[in-house]
Amino acid sequence: EKDPRIARISSSIRIIPDFPKKGILFQDITTLLLDTKAFKDTIDLFVDRYKGKNISVVAGIEARGFIFGPPIALAIGAKFVPLRKPKKLPGEVISEEYSLEYGKDVIEMHVGAVQAGERALVIDDLIATGGTLCAAISLLERVGVHVVECACVIELPELKGRERLEDKPLFVLISG
Ligand code: AMP
Repeated sequence: EKDPRIARISSSIRIIPDFPKKGILFQDITTLLLDTKAFKDTIDLFVDRYKGKNISVVAGIEARGFIFGPPIALAIGAKFVPLRKPKKLPGEVISEEYSLEYGKDVIEMHVGAVQAGERALVIDDLIATGGTLCAAISLLERVGVHVVECACVIELPELKGRERLEDKPLFVLISG
């Protein structure tokens, strides 16, 4: 972590123990958004990595992928596609189910939002087990989109989400 921007981004994230339930150390990025330099640096670091890479889709995962995705999409000239929790999108959707520690969850995307052959970046605030990002990749690949990379602000490396993504590249600003 030589880049001083990373240190500032890292220290701007607040950690709240036992939220939303006991034993979870919740990484709260809303405090990053309050630090105008840290927020801008976060977006700039992603934009510098993805501009000129011929990416036409930034797919953001609900809810915090909706915060980081759109400014990146605008800066690299890509469209923004929300990947949402069930029953939120009004049009025809394609769905992908994935398993959680207890139970299942689903993410959905509007049919027609992307075309086969497009190149996508998938963005979320944090990777834990990697289940959410895996589901996002599967959803996009089912409709013929090439997922170039997944990007997160934070990785929790002890949960080995990166391994679950197999050969799919993952870029994070903060690991640990
Ligand atoms: P996973 O599917 O296990 O990789 O979990 C990633 C999703 O859950 C992301 O959308 C995160 O926002 C959220 N998440 C999981 N663990 C945490 C945590 N410790 N702090 C904040 N968000 C988390």
